[in-house]
Amino acid sequence: MKELLNQLVALQAIDMEIDQIDQAIKAEQNALDERISALAKREALINELQEKISAQQKESRTLEGEMADKMTHVRERQSKMMQVQTGREQTALLKEIEDAKKSAKENEESIVAIMLSIEQLTAQMNEEKNLLKGEKELVAEETEKVRANIEAINKGKREKDSQRGDQATKIKAPTLKKYDTLRLRRNGVAVVNVVDGVCQGCYMAIPPQLFNRLLRGDELFDCPTCQRMIHYAPAAEEKN
Ligand SMILES: [Zn+2]
Repeated sequence: MKELLNQLVALQAIDMEIDQIDQAIKAEQNALDERISALAKREALINELQEKISAQQKESRTLEGEMADKMTHVRERQSKMMQVQTGREQTALLKEIEDAKKSAKENEESIVAIMLSIEQLTAQMNEEKNLLKGEKELVAEETEKVRANIEAINKGKREKDSQRGDQATKIKAPTLKKYDTLRLRRNGVAVVNVVDGVCQGCYMAIPPQLFNRLLRGDELFDCPTCQRMIHYAPAAEEKN
């Protein structure tokens, strides 16, 4: 039984190394994914700025058209001034002209404000475009690096996988199946040490009677709480 336990412990050690390798691959990929999504966010921001600029350009053209109409109206009224007879008519016309001029002036002021805003938005957009260009280059380099890293990690993984295959053949199928299931259900840990009567998988005490039998090391036991396979390794040669 001691031999079987040793084989299981050895298998688990390999499996944990493989888990670490998988996590390293995932971490590489995640870091890259984050950068790629940052690129997409910046692209969306640029599009948003472009839309704002277009909307403001359109508004500015509308205001310009209105202003031209108002000025035409002013000129018409001004030429009519020659024909009016009474002071009252003259006053009314003058007021109309002043109002139209004032209104045209308001358009002009709005147009200037919009132009300023467009200028600022354009500057901001150009800055974002520059940043995007730099980031895209970096991400392209990063993608290449990550691809190479993952390839290197995978090379190591293939070696571990074949080691794992060899080690697994040393364990009988039903035990191996139980081990695999436990690893899936118990956070990757199927075989655990018991220290001072406490399971190191779930940290619950195991009954003293069971612990005494475990100390003899000639039977394979499960933890009554977490069902992991338990073994007893004295502190000096502790592996977990
Ligand atoms: Zn347990």
